[in-house]
Amino acid sequence: MQPVLVSACLLGRPVRFDGTHRQANSAILLRWLSEGRVVPACPEMAGGLPVPRPAAEIIRGIRGAQVRAGVARVLTQSGDDVSAAFVAGARQALALAQAHGIRIAVLKDGSPSCGSTNVHDGTFTGTRVAGMGVTALLLREAGVQVFSELQFAKADAALKALERSAVK
Ligand code: SF4
Repeated sequence: MQPVLVSACLLGRPVRFDGTHRQANSAILLRWLSEGRVVPACPEMAGGLPVPRPAAEIIRGIRGAQVRAGVARVLTQSGDDVSAAFVAGARQALALAQAHGIRIAVLKDGSPSCGSTNVHDGTFTGTRVAGMGVTALLLREAGVQVFSELQFAKADAALKALERSAVK
């Protein structure tokens, strides 16, 4: 059975920066849970950040690739540089995915770690720009198909395609 990596906050775990969660209301997720195929991950906590923690954004609307290359930063609103924790968390998420043979992930969009279609633009004004968070990007570059919490149906279709190809 193909496992799926899922953001811990989408599973109801209160791991977000403000101590809340974003439990996903998804019949597909409930089925995955009953099948025992869900592997939870919170990259920011894995990277050593506490709950609660200051909100952080990728600065200047740039992408995770630049963060990983050391030419961009993830900062809190007060200017603390938390890039190292974000990169460490991303690497741990990738190691977890590789240890479980994971090829599909559903991650919370908009997050500087987990965002897969958009992230906040670094101005701390609630403005989003197209782009990926550090973890989502690292996973995608490693060949993991990354979906947002609005794409459970797509993720499930990809999962079924993978499982069909595995039995051929
Ligand atoms: Fe953790 Fe990702 Fe959820 Fe942020 S979006 S709380 S890093 S699992």
